[in-house]
Amino acid sequence: MEKAITRFAPSPTGYIHIGNVRSAIYPYLVARQTNGKIILRIEDTDRERYVEGATELIEDTLKWLGLDWDEGPLVGGPNEPYFQTERLSIYMEWVQKLLDSGRAYADPTPPEKIDEYRKECNEKKVPFLYRNFRPENTPTWEPGIPIRFKAEPKEYSWHDEVMGDMHTGPEVLDDIILIKRDGYPTYNFAHIVDDAEMGVTHVMRGVEYLSSTPNYLALYEAFGLERPKLVSLPHILAPIGNKKLGKRDGAKSVTEYRDDGILPEAILNYLASLGWNDGTEQEIYTKEELIEKFSIDRIQNSGARYDENKLFWMNGQWIRRIFNEQGARALYDRTINFWPESASNYPEEYRIKVLSIIYDRLKTLSDLKDMTNYFFEDPKIDTDIIKNNKFLKKMSEAEVEELLKKSIDALAGLKEWDAEYLQETLNGLLAESGKKPAELFSLIRIALSFAPFSPALNLTLEVLGRETSLARLNAVARSI
Ligand code: GLU
Repeated sequence: MEKAITRFAPSPTGYIHIGNVRSAIYPYLVARQTNGKIILRIEDTDRERYVEGATELIEDTLKWLGLDWDEGPLVGGPNEPYFQTERLSIYMEWVQKLLDSGRAYADPTPPEKIDEYRKECNEKKVPFLYRNFRPENTPTWEPGIPIRFKAEPKEYSWHDEVMGDMHTGPEVLDDIILIKRDGYPTYNFAHIVDDAEMGVTHVMRGVEYLSSTPNYLALYEAFGLERPKLVSLPHILAPIGNKKLGKRDGAKSVTEYRDDGILPEAILNYLASLGWNDGTEQEIYTKEELIEKFSIDRIQNSGARYDENKLFWMNGQWIRRIFNEQGARALYDRTINFWPESASNYPEEYRIKVLSIIYDRLKTLSDLKDMTNYFFEDPKIDTDIIKNNKFLKKMSEAEVEELLKKSIDALAGLKEWDAEYLQETLNGLLAESGKKPAELFSLIRIALSFAPFSPALNLTLEVLGRETSLARLNAVARSI
């Protein structure tokens, strides 16, 4: 396979929103699959939208997701610098070529005048095309004057790797701005220059740039550049309706998901398979499998709907997978920031034991907080919970007390406090008391935890230990 050179070119305007990460994942997969390169380029020429610290956030997010880059900030490379604001002289060199060949002009028209033209067109209900108002006399360029492309209206045909064969008429071509009044290049111009200088073979980006593509094709042509492969990535859609996923739809930044206990493997897996599949039923993919199986021609050309529940489900799958394949310690290492406060009073080995019996119920690592409290603190006794329990409410208080006492006696007599013996004892108690498992086990479970659920009872007892378990059961027996 030919080596692909791809890029991720974010603008440092804030956190990386979950809907934008896919524009980093797909180029990453293509680069790795072909033994090519992925470049990280920071498109920071829009100074009004620039946010301090956003670049570092982007870098951290990509690193956390395991999306390393071959050229760009932090790692350097032969095409330095990788911040567009540091490449101004390069853009000026390129624009000079167009000025010299008569394909660009310095435009002295004041902004107010341009607004008037636009209004005029609106009133006449005709599309506003700047080329119809192109000034007759243009000055020699000097700083403070915008530079525009001189469009040649004509038809364009091209192939988009996802959207298919495209065709547009001359009406979409215009004198787009190349260099702004403030001296910075526009996205429309800068990315053409950078992609060419950096040898980018696949321009993979959001479909929002599709409508501007004819203007980009005109620029490639004016510079005599070969067109790179154009790969438009369809929008990720909000959970309902037909609009692009936005912050208001509850979609979070990657950082927020990380803080909520979503694993990078799950985000990568979920987003990669949102709008792409390999034609099989497979749902869980490692990064290596994605690199192997990804193909541009299986990217869907319609929007893919964002489903946070699916992400959470996948996260649960990844939690299990890490535990089963890499072991309890490996999963534990991911959970450090997610335990209830009181857990810090207990040794790591104890926390690992708790994790080992609860991990398969976790959807996010932050579930640990609510789900494991009673392993680290005696729960508050609330006998109403026993009285109102759907399995226990048929029993009288005396019956409950007697059952609890019998359980305490049987458990106290155990020589070895381990899961197997505990299960035997619980089975014996069942047979002897004639109660249903749901009755007996609910009672003991509630008395130990007062939590809505716990892992298998014998495992819970084993991890809590003899002393704590019996003390809790006794305290409840006294309170009834
Ligand atoms: N800076 C553009 C953005 O953040 C990148 C588009 C592209 O990948 O070319 O939307």
